[in-house]
Amino acid sequence: MMHWQDADSIFEVRLQALQQNYLMLQGRASTADCAAVVKADAYGLGVGPVSKALADVGCASFFVAHVEEGIELRSVLPDVTIFVFHGVAERQVSLCVEHRLVPVLNSLEQVGLWRSVDAPAALHVDTGMERLGVPFDQVERVEGDFVCVMSHLACADTPEHALNQLQLERCLMLRERFAGIPLSVANSAGIFLGEAYHFDMVRPGCALYGVNPVLGMHMMQPVVRLVSHIVQVRSVEAGASVGYGGDAVSEEDRRIAVVPVGYADGYLRALSGKGLVSIGGVTVPIVGRVSMDLITVDVTGLDAGLQQAGQEVELLGEHVLVDDVAHLAGTIGYEVLTGLGKGRFSKVYI
Ligand SMILES: *Cc1c(COP(=O)(O)O)cnc(C)c1O
Repeated sequence: MMHWQDADSIFEVRLQALQQNYLMLQGRASTADCAAVVKADAYGLGVGPVSKALADVGCASFFVAHVEEGIELRSVLPDVTIFVFHGVAERQVSLCVEHRLVPVLNSLEQVGLWRSVDAPAALHVDTGMERLGVPFDQVERVEGDFVCVMSHLACADTPEHALNQLQLERCLMLRERFAGIPLSVANSAGIFLGEAYHFDMVRPGCALYGVNPVLGMHMMQPVVRLVSHIVQVRSVEAGASVGYGGDAVSEEDRRIAVVPVGYADGYLRALSGKGLVSIGGVTVPIVGRVSMDLITVDVTGLDAGLQQAGQEVELLGEHVLVDDVAHLAGTIGYEVLTGLGKGRFSKVYI
């Protein structure tokens, strides 16, 4: 793996904001425990430093998607509970046991496979998402002992959606069927659906990382700050186009700054002609298409002092919110973070 210590761009993770987001969610969750979902390298932020910072403020349960992610997390945090959403295949049973990972069993087959294993497991029941989990109508056939029963909400970010109520009713039935076993239902958005959805453990992901889980909400603190620097500024005459395709033409003369971040860094190409960055606290637009390694921004209106090579450019942070970037790209904050998290940036933890 290459190192980017001298990179033009820095992916800053503000661990204190992360911790404050965790404590806020834990406070919202009333009596339920607050776990943390750190799959996909903690949504691109880096599973090791993120998980340690969360454990430092009391988080004791973590969820990953894959067994391999669980093994990586175990090497960082020897004492926490690590759940694996995707469950376990036969070839992974011994790895789970060795690294004390708790698989979330998603089918009657997985439940059967684990019955001969003397180690804890969780159970996922599908109450309406129609994705992973034992179908709700097969619950009576489940036999076994579990440390946690979970389900996942399909429409938690849309509070008025009828599916929430149906899933809630089924979860209440699960609580009877698996009396005495901790029940976990709410993701980030589910926490904001209200206390009825909290049960015994909530498991937020995106909100920890500064994504507001419900449209129009502004409660989460930005955690990631992505900053780069202008590598070159050029004058573009009226009528001349900028970048690939030659369609970004203006009737005015412009000053165009080139910034060394592109779609190969997870800066979505859908932001072509739409994205915004902040320079010296002023928001300026992306002009033309996002290239693999570069974007071009219009700095015409900025003070001359800001139109300089070396000038800092914020692509994500306090002035450029992840939710706004996602909206402009026609996607969700999760995709923005997981994409940029794999970019050619040096990651810095503050
Ligand atoms: C990813 C995931 C979560 C976390 O969801 P957020 O919306 O990021 O809070 C919770 N539960 C399951 C099953 C997941 O796959």
